[in-house]
Amino acid sequence: MIAEFWEPVAGGRTKCTLCPHFCVIDEGREGLCKVRGTRGARLESLVYGRVATVVSDSIERKPFFHFHPGAFVLSLSTLGCNVLCSGCNTWQLSHATAARGEAEKLSFMAPEEAVAMAEKHRLPGIAFAFGEAAIWAEYVHDVCIAAKEAGLFTCFVTAGYMNVKTLDYLAPHIDALKYDLKAPDGRGWGWLTKVEDPEITLDVVARAKEDHGCHVEVVSNLVPGMNDDDDSLRTMANQVLERFGARTAWHVTRFLPEFELSYVRSTPVKTLERAAQIGREAGLEFVYVGNVPGHPGRHTVCPKCGRTVIRRGDQRAEENWLREGRCPDCGEELGIVGGD
Ligand SMILES: [Zn+2]
Repeated sequence: MIAEFWEPVAGGRTKCTLCPHFCVIDEGREGLCKVRGTRGARLESLVYGRVATVVSDSIERKPFFHFHPGAFVLSLSTLGCNVLCSGCNTWQLSHATAARGEAEKLSFMAPEEAVAMAEKHRLPGIAFAFGEAAIWAEYVHDVCIAAKEAGLFTCFVTAGYMNVKTLDYLAPHIDALKYDLKAPDGRGWGWLTKVEDPEITLDVVARAKEDHGCHVEVVSNLVPGMNDDDDSLRTMANQVLERFGARTAWHVTRFLPEFELSYVRSTPVKTLERAAQIGREAGLEFVYVGNVPGHPGRHTVCPKCGRTVIRRGDQRAEENWLREGRCPDCGEELGIVGGD
């Protein structure tokens, strides 16, 4: 289908304006994301409705810990990505191309079919996950509108590398947004993702929260030797605090060797615990240790009285003592949406 966010360029080319890469794309070719291409001097989304993953999955695995804890959601993804992470753990999808008819090999799911599938399986929400959700913005937009009309909630997983117009097109229809804060500065982002201006991503996600009222959680995957030194951790913790507030859940997750970084060891648990400590010292009230089965750092503890409020297994919330979003002991409002 004809894409949103582009302009014609001389010679039958198009310029994609979805994200700050602003790819200028020759006829018959695709942009850096590999899923938006020039066809007949117009920019097309090659992956509209083309679903590479369809699963019912716990919301904690996105991860969202403060949004409908314990819920299962219909999780959808497609091919391609505009943020080329060297340690991507879904690289089989994110580095796949939609060119040469590859997207047509995937099954097509119309927006109303996605909603019907969620309803059929009694799933309360739909998540766009396992890859960058912004790259199939047109489809996400249409599914989210249909989902909201049906009374479902919507979740969006992103590195935030999109233009403001793209965010403003999507965010009114998105309830919860998970942001990947990859590194403390442009050097780290450039090395890990080929994106050199992380301020764009922080601005966009702050706008989602402030102007559009999206629930925001932040993940930093800690890659040994890349972004796990004390200064980097302190800087990232302060970015979360200053941009999104002390009550924002910050997930520091264990890197597992993948793709171009398969030579790097996985993150030591002690590093994750140090990161959580640094986050708390910076003033964040909810810092979670992720990707470590059995670790107590995935439970939610009331920052006021110390009571465990949500106890999580490795896959999802298993015990939940929230009362109308509040701590059952001291009554503190914890900013956790839904699920009690
Ligand atoms: Zn309490």
